[in-house]
Amino acid sequence: MKSLWYLNKYLFKYKWRLLLGVVFISLNNTFNIFIPQVVRYTIDSVKESLTTYYLFEQDAFSGFANDIGATTGKLALIAGGTIIGLAILKGFFLFLTRQTIIIVSRLIEYDLKNEIFDQYQVLSLAFYKRNKTGDLMNRISDDVSKVRMYIGPAIMYTANLTLLFVLVISTMLKVNTELTLYVLLPLPLLSFLIYYVSNIINKKSDYVQRQLSTLSSFTQEAFSGIRILKAYNREQDSLFSLEQECESYKYLNLDLVKINALFHPLMLLLIGISTTLTIYIGGILAIQGEITIGNIAEFVIYVNMLTWPIAAVGWVTSLVQRAAASQARINEFLNIVPEITNSNMGSSDIHGNIEFQNVTFDYPDSGIRALNNVSFSVKQGKSLAIMGRTGSGKSTIANLIGRIYDISNGDILIDKTPIDKINLDDLRSNIGYVPQEVFLFSETIANNISFGLTEIDVSKKTIEEAAKNAAIYNNIMEFPDRFETFVGERGITLSGGQKQRISIARAIIRSPQILIFDDCLSSVDTETEEEILNNLKIILQDKTSIIISHRVSSVKHADHIIILDEGRVAEEGKHAYLIDKKGIYFDLFKKQQLENS
Ligand code: ADP
Ligand code: MG
Repeated sequence: MKSLWYLNKYLFKYKWRLLLGVVFISLNNTFNIFIPQVVRYTIDSVKESLTTYYLFEQDAFSGFANDIGATTGKLALIAGGTIIGLAILKGFFLFLTRQTIIIVSRLIEYDLKNEIFDQYQVLSLAFYKRNKTGDLMNRISDDVSKVRMYIGPAIMYTANLTLLFVLVISTMLKVNTELTLYVLLPLPLLSFLIYYVSNIINKKSDYVQRQLSTLSSFTQEAFSGIRILKAYNREQDSLFSLEQECESYKYLNLDLVKINALFHPLMLLLIGISTTLTIYIGGILAIQGEITIGNIAEFVIYVNMLTWPIAAVGWVTSLVQRAAASQARINEFLNIVPEITNSNMGSSDIHGNIEFQNVTFDYPDSGIRALNNVSFSVKQGKSLAIMGRTGSGKSTIANLIGRIYDISNGDILIDKTPIDKINLDDLRSNIGYVPQEVFLFSETIANNISFGLTEIDVSKKTIEEAAKNAAIYNNIMEFPDRFETFVGERGITLSGGQKQRISIARAIIRSPQILIFDDCLSSVDTETEEEILNNLKIILQDKTSIIISHRVSSVKHADHIIILDEGRVAEEGKHAYLIDKKGIYFDLFKKQQLENS
């Protein structure tokens, strides 16, 4: 249960509303408790009147008897009116109760979701490597809803039960202790049984939920992989697997329905036992003259009033247990201290001098040594090209400059300041990064390009300019909706090269001080590559640029080139120097020349 303490800060935040809710609950119960008393009073009065009526029914007194009859009728009418009035008042306060407490639970749900999402955003990439997307989604949606059930219904019913219990039991005890005890006897059993059944129901619904996730993941994968599926002629197979998943979903659901069906009859059975006991024991007591007939009617209503709240004890207990487990899962993520934190709250001017001094880096999750004693420096406004085989550590350098990871050994200096002493937001907003694997949002092309800009209204011209410089403008103008074309799931499918160029436009539109292009021209033909590089020359004039590529044509104009091999710098220098050196670079150059001729 300890995990739920985390929510106390939220309960505290909304304390006034919650308190108001409790006030409404008391009012609701107060009016509720009057109803049985009115019923008792009416029945007893009517019974008494009737006895008198029959006594005076003989001819001589019929006038008097008629008077009594009329009065009794009036009394019954007034009693009926009072009960309706009380019920309306009770309903009104019940409405207000829900309006306060359930709304608080929704507000806390909202706060908690935001808190979790905020935390997700500051957690490092290593965290995302360790945890599956589905798990992250579940904790922010499923688990939060379960926690909400604790705050809303659980708190509401607990407050309700406590108040009702005190009010009803004290009233009952005033009437007759023996009857009260007998009537209440089956109720704890009810509470326990409901708890037991709800637990089974919860467990089974979890199975159903899990199978549903499996089913949706399966179908989602089938749809996204539909091209491969068709190409390999596996439709029948896929259908067969789907049928199997559906079949187990069906069985799990039927299983759940069976136990669900037990819930209500069980409650009714126990209410029935209580009512029978009330009438039987009450009858004996009434014969003995200890209580009136009206008391029996009153008690029957009390029993009915108590059953749901008492059953709710069992239900609420299982809700709280589930909520505690969910909150524990949520806390697990909330308590992770982000590895990369902003240590400088002041602002940092970024000019773009980058220096690596004997940098050694191991990936925290896999322990793979990606960089080994790497040193280089790029001055503001200059360009550095990085070449090397796949897995040689090129993308790692790009990640480190953006401080996606912190290094194990050595120093990275930006404008002569250690990278971890620089304001992280300033650093990242001054870097234009074109990742190796392009990611476009299911959004319009214009929104994809202007993604990194914080202004709400980005001028059309700026977007078009960026598109032109990335040599994608003409392609975009050929789409039916031009810049408003939707990308991805709901829209057009772009070729690899087109995606890369949109990604480049996204980076350069911010005109950041540092630009990193991670192998972003790999899917572009040499002619377009030439065009882009020419455009970039103008843009990059006073910016620092890091160009990662495996094509000599992309890197040969760079101010400095380094060749990485298994995380070490194997060769470095300018194009001409490296050609003369006749090493790895020269071999690559020769090979690529042959391919192009
Ligand atoms: P390149 O970009 O030159 O192809 P990378 O910098 O991506 O190479 O990778 C260098 C090494 O680090 C490789 O051995 C790769 O397996 C490993 N590596 C890359 N990214 C990760 C990661 N996120 N977690 C663990 N290991 C990684
Ligand atoms: Mg790479």
